[in-house]
Amino acid sequence: MERWRKPVIPAAVEPDNSSTMEVGVRRGGVNWTLEEEDFQRVKEGRVCLKCMEPQEVPFPKVCSLPGCGYPIKAQQLIDLGEQYKGDKWLGSRLNLDEELNRLDEKHYHDNYWTREHHIIIPRSVKK
Ligand SMILES: [Zn+2]
Repeated sequence: MERWRKPVIPAAVEPDNSSTMEVGVRRGGVNWTLEEEDFQRVKEGRVCLKCMEPQEVPFPKVCSLPGCGYPIKAQQLIDLGEQYKGDKWLGSRLNLDEELNRLDEKHYHDNYWTREHHIIIPRSVKK
């Protein structure tokens, strides 16, 4: 398969209200989260923003997928500017603060507390 034909597979598709660095693009009530490489292909006009069909020639007048008809050359960068919602952190359902708190608690628990007779006591108390 030629490189340009490589299909775009979103890293995540979520309802629009809502995490590697990823890129969110809003599409008809959903956020598509693309790998950095695929986002580059969209920016370079090598993938249709509307249907994510790979394009043989960058920035064609219209998308090559029959029935799509998206005017890539005229619209893609304009729409991308409006729809781009920034980088996202993928990997945890918790937000970053919650994740840091959770790791802090785990670190604290693992390192300073020990379980004995179902009572948790600080290690510093134990001989
Ligand atoms: Zn298209």
